[in-house]
Amino acid sequence: MDFSLDKDEFVEWFMQRDYKGCSVDRIDNSKGYHMDNIQIIPTRRNIQKDKTKILDGKRWCYSCKEYKEFSEMCTSNRIECGTSTLCSKCNYARKKDYLSRKKSSA
Ligand SMILES: [Zn+2]
Repeated sequence: MDFSLDKDEFVEWFMQRDYKGCSVDRIDNSKGYHMDNIQIIPTRRNIQKDKTKILDGKRWCYSCKEYKEFSEMCTSNRIECGTSTLCSKCNYARKKDYLSRKKSSA
């Protein structure tokens, strides 16, 4: 098999097959929806994969929008794979912000 689909064609192909609770994931996100670059995975796993972006051992902080060293990541807010989506600094700032808002409203 050596053919590729554009995304709309692919979605149509996928919808015809009704994979319940599953979604399509590209094996290599930099590549398109080619038949050799897609996998059908449970939706939950796909979401989790998106949450924890890792590049060269660094984790994506959703607040800074930067990759951070693992040691800079907040570990108090563990999700399943043991990492947070925020770095310690952002987590601290968020907490501080929350506390100050709580104080001013009291
Ligand atoms: Zn951050």
